[in-house]
Amino acid sequence: MTPKVLIIEDTPTIAKVQKHIALSVGYDVDVATTLKEATDFIKTNQYFCAVVDFILPDAPNGEAIPITIKAEIPTIVMTGNIDDTTRTAVERFPIIDYITKEHKQAYHYLKKQLQRLPKNEHISILVVEDSTPARNFIKALLLRQKYKVYEAYDGQNALDILAENPEISVIITDYEMPNINGAELCVEVRRKHNDEDIAIIGISSSDKALLSARFIKSGANDYLRKPFNNEEFYCRLSQNVDMLENIATIRRQANTDYLTDLPNRRYFFEEAHKLLKIDEKNHAPPCVAMMDIDHFKAINDNYGHDAGDAVLQALSRAFKKFFPNELIARMGGEEFVVFFTSATKTSAKKQLELFLVYVQKNSASFTDFKIPFTLSAGLSLEPVYDIDKVLKDADIKLYAAKEGGRNRLVV
Ligand code: GH3
Ligand code: MG
Ligand code: MG
Ligand code: MG
Repeated sequence: MTPKVLIIEDTPTIAKVQKHIALSVGYDVDVATTLKEATDFIKTNQYFCAVVDFILPDAPNGEAIPITIKAEIPTIVMTGNIDDTTRTAVERFPIIDYITKEHKQAYHYLKKQLQRLPKNEHISILVVEDSTPARNFIKALLLRQKYKVYEAYDGQNALDILAENPEISVIITDYEMPNINGAELCVEVRRKHNDEDIAIIGISSSDKALLSARFIKSGANDYLRKPFNNEEFYCRLSQNVDMLENIATIRRQANTDYLTDLPNRRYFFEEAHKLLKIDEKNHAPPCVAMMDIDHFKAINDNYGHDAGDAVLQALSRAFKKFFPNELIARMGGEEFVVFFTSATKTSAKKQLELFLVYVQKNSASFTDFKIPFTLSAGLSLEPVYDIDKVLKDADIKLYAAKEGGRNRLVV
């Protein structure tokens, strides 16, 4: 179901901008222009979140805020009032954010928040704090923004929980704790996880300014001084989560072939290296096939480069379907590799033979261009545990398959 936003705003131009933003990031939208309308909407709808104006014709003092809060709708307050009295009034409520409509940037920020919220449900955060009230406070702030929360009462407990829950990507930790303190915890976490995989935010009390530096030098990404206000907390957290996501995206792009969306050569070498180590330990010779489209140049020449691209994309989909559990990659041009991780020699050979027949029989219907084509393949089963040597061997066999007339497998 598409998540729905309730916008409560009486100024038509602002409501229109907010609605446009919400629609653009994938929400359904209801707009209420008065408190009365909002109350009626809430009675009959489920909302993922609400964007609430502080001043409405029938609610001049933020009276709409407790209505959405009471209905347990995560609430973002947007207001034209930038004075401290309004801010203090708003901060009494457990809202998820407070945005002042001072300039255009406010709407960029709203967009970011609306994009962030649905993603937060998939982000796991570990709160490490020995004081139960302090832990509960941070937990409540996180739950309000829909994060998934784990709790630890000290450093050792945090390490145990982290080991059991590899999905945890952010750790928020206090400094003073029994057994292992916050900085020591950072050092321990960094033994296994770098700061691009897990973000650590240290929390230190204001009377110990040096602790902030201590945290960073021990491997934390960021720190917050106690007492912090909610806005500051959320801003720091969002920035760190954004950073993790950006790095994950860049990494994914660096490992993926742009045209076919298959893992690329770079990724293949990295993973194959790890797999070969395991194979060597188990004295299990690797099982690696090189494959190449026959007379692909002629496809480009006869049907055009776009048709060639479409063939590569369609064949890649077939690879994914046929070899869902193996390491596959586009090595370059029209050359692909399959590193079998879950097959015996015999079953790998059988699967490859079936795949070649499948491609020969079905390739004409792979794309709208209706181009039939075939594949040649070389399978290496030698007990060598060096990826360059394995690929060289598979390549020699592939060459033999080409020499032997193409559309065949040489083992
Ligand atoms: P063989 O059966 O011996 O493998 O012959 P072939 O024509 O398939 O092999 P050759 O190496 O002579 O030609 C490969 C062609 O693949 C040449 C190159 O322009 C084309 N090619 C490489 N990458 C791409 C791509 O990303 N898209 C398209 N459309 N063509 C590509
Ligand atoms: Mg208003
Ligand atoms: Mg070829
Ligand atoms: Mg080639």
